Amino acid sequence: AADLLNADFYGFQHQLTDTEQRALASVRDFLDTEVRPFADDYWERAESPKHLWPRFAELGLFGNAFPETQQFENSNVYRGWVAMEISRADPSTATFIGVHSGLAMTSIAVGGSEAQKVEWLPKLAAGELVAAFGLTEPDHGSDTAKGLETTAERRPGPDGADEWVLNGSKRWIGNGAFADLVVIWARDVADDQVKGFLVRTPTPGFVGTKIERKQSLRAVENADITLDGVVVPESDRLQKINGFRDVAVVLRLTRADVAWQALGVAVGAYDAALAYTQSRMQFGNPIASFQLVQQKLANALSNITASIALCMRVSQMQDEGIQLDHHSAMAKAFVSARMRETVALCRELCGGNGVQLDHGVARYFADAEAVFTFEGTFDMNSLIVGRAITGIAAFV
Ligand code: FAD
Repeated sequence: AADLLNADFYGFQHQLTDTEQRALASVRDFLDTEVRPFADDYWERAESPKHLWPRFAELGLFGNAFPETQQFENSNVYRGWVAMEISRADPSTATFIGVHSGLAMTSIAVGGSEAQKVEWLPKLAAGELVAAFGLTEPDHGSDTAKGLETTAERRPGPDGADEWVLNGSKRWIGNGAFADLVVIWARDVADDQVKGFLVRTPTPGFVGTKIERKQSLRAVENADITLDGVVVPESDRLQKINGFRDVAVVLRLTRADVAWQALGVAVGAYDAALAYTQSRMQFGNPIASFQLVQQKLANALSNITASIALCMRVSQMQDEGIQLDHHSAMAKAFVSARMRETVALCRELCGGNGVQLDHGVARYFADAEAVFTFEGTFDMNSLIVGRAITGIAAFV
């Protein structure tokens, strides 16, 4: 079983409540038996373990942030540790849970009317439906705020209520080829503002095609989506979203979780590398006895420890209601940079075996690249921090 504290050098987890520590231990037990042992196989086959969906729901991994659906009262810090533990077992699993419970459900919690929250959040928390979040487009990733090209046009519907017609395309959408509900962000042709739409699939004009040959987070099924005259009733437009500023609120909340996820990638690689250095013999001794090897382990654990501190604080700020865009941007940028350094050190410590799935590090090494890039690249998150420092936005 993965030890609670082997990578938590300063014992930060003791700050969780007893209830939270017990809940985290159950999640960890589940990951040890049902996710970690099979993760490499799903990764190799580029397939999401969809049969686990009801188990994720049972464990409260969906919608634990929202009063409508949480299983017990818990903090952002607790949910951060949960995201870290899932990612430590399997970054792909953390990602497809993150897309559903983080990005899509948070869009509804932040942007939905009371009626929309009541209609969707319980079903998504129970795992009855799978959700996706469609923001990125083939020609717009970092510049979606200004560049989004998918259009939404309002017109009178057949039953007297208005409806919207969506046209455009999306890229990289996690769960997008099999989700029951896809949150689509599109630009209103009338006022040029970005609005959010709950697209129920299947629906005419919506096609999601799995992206093949991806070499990072292979067990997340990402999709290219085309929207060709997709009709959405006004009642399925997120009623409290009035522009990209509101999308940024969703991203601010979920970006802190991605920092925890990046931390989990680093810890997963560290666990494997530490075990490897203790069993691998060279020059008649375990490689863990060599000074240069110990230095790499110390660097990896220092990166992890500094990252835990930053993740803890950004989630505490979220709990206190004082977290701003640049706080979560700094956490995501810093922790994902330390993650990238750490997985490289850990890969190096495993020698040739470090590039082969069976030795426990290769999957984290590859997965780190997508985590470094999504929910704002390292560069874009750094520029959000730069804007806070200087008062000048370098990216508009
Ligand atoms: P670009 O924006 O084209 O960036 C390319 C490079 O240019 C980067 O290094 C970037 O930092 C740099 N750059 C761009 N602009 C600037 C600037 N002004 N200054 C300095 N550098 C700059 N999106 C979704 O909507 N939903 C999902 O579920 C989803 N899941 C994903 C899963 C995976 C595995 C991946 C890889 C991506 C996913 N994404 C998703 C998309 C992801 O958010 C984008 O890939 C990311 O925002 C970067 O956009 P891009 O790939 O178009 O890169």
